[in-house]
Amino acid sequence: MKSLLPVEQIRAQFPILNENPHGKPLVYLDSAATSQKPRFVLQRLQAYYEHENANVYRGVYTLSARATEAYEQARAHVAAFIHAPAPEEVIFVRGTTEAINLVADRWGRENLQPGDEVVVTPLEHHSNLVPWQHICAERGATLRYAELAEDGSLPVENVAAVVGPRTKLVAVAHISNVLGTILPVREIAELAHQNGALCLIDGAQAVPHLPVDVQQIGCDFYAFSGHKMLGPTGIGCLWAKRSILDAMDPWLYGGEMISRVTRVSSTFKESPYKFEGGTPNIAGAVGLDAALTFLEQVGMERITEHESALTEYALSRLSEIKGLQWYGPKERGGIVTFNLEGIHPHDVATVLDNEDICVRAGHHCAQPLMSWLSCTATVRASFYLYNTFEEVDALCAGLLKAKEFFHHAVV
Ligand code: PLP
Repeated sequence: MKSLLPVEQIRAQFPILNENPHGKPLVYLDSAATSQKPRFVLQRLQAYYEHENANVYRGVYTLSARATEAYEQARAHVAAFIHAPAPEEVIFVRGTTEAINLVADRWGRENLQPGDEVVVTPLEHHSNLVPWQHICAERGATLRYAELAEDGSLPVENVAAVVGPRTKLVAVAHISNVLGTILPVREIAELAHQNGALCLIDGAQAVPHLPVDVQQIGCDFYAFSGHKMLGPTGIGCLWAKRSILDAMDPWLYGGEMISRVTRVSSTFKESPYKFEGGTPNIAGAVGLDAALTFLEQVGMERITEHESALTEYALSRLSEIKGLQWYGPKERGGIVTFNLEGIHPHDVATVLDNEDICVRAGHHCAQPLMSWLSCTATVRASFYLYNTFEEVDALCAGLLKAKEFFHHAVV
């Protein structure tokens, strides 16, 4: 099949794709866990450490000014990438998990009262579930679930069925990391607001793969991770509306985030600095900046189309394999999740690993969703801009090998 992207040209920029631990061409199908990094990002990290490295804000010298400029440029770039109104609304954190914990720990503790409700869905990653379980228990609030339709999609009516005057927050994934379901986030945010609630979107699987406009979505908080979008690990972002951030207390008290400190008390900087206590991950932010440039040069719309074509092809090829059940709706992001009858997902993944095909097997940090699917684990293949149709064929060939290896009598 013909690709919409110059995939071979793109692949040539990812050195790790030349690795072949078992002597076969590497087929990397685990970008939903973490993406690979192009040379452009690797080189930017090296250049930062060779020419700009110093601590931000503190130094009255040129290197520190360079580091500060690079760090703030990254913030401005992130804001532009997600169409945030202002860079000050972007807080650098370690990743999606930390971003959501920040909101639960600060906004949740300050705003949830006994009797209030937080609405989630059964497909949430534990990162957008456990923090809400924890803070709801602490504050005497209730966690409610908007149920999925039979195919794993989330009709907005199912959210409407549980959102009401007690709802304080609706917190949902933009794209499921297991089923690939794309949630109607714009309608969900509108519904939350009609009921006087706020809306948080876990964008970990969305920002890397489709154009995101937080103003168009109309949500209040949006969280994502740099490492899933060609950037380094240890850097991620929380975007939130300025008025909400202004009303929140600081997080992580210490250096960088204060205005003035006396022996007995302190005053704090404004957002985003009041949430970024301590030396931040400067190189991480700089690497993320480069990753955004790379993604923009390829074009987010083209990446979405490419992944969509790969996914459609994968679902049709997987459907040809007897004894294979795939889960989730047809319309989805670049993720396919399935089981081979009678073979444990870890065994499937081990056979595939022998072929140098990297997939994920397990509960994917979504145990309530595994219960909903009536299984304990699945195999997951996820696509990105560097994947090819031939790799989908290799996956299918590997799955047939797994069936053969386990002498499975699936007919
Ligand atoms: N939310 C979703 C939907 C995810 O897929 C992930 C990671 O897989 C996370 C949150 C957590 O991201 P991180 O581990 O980068 O904090």
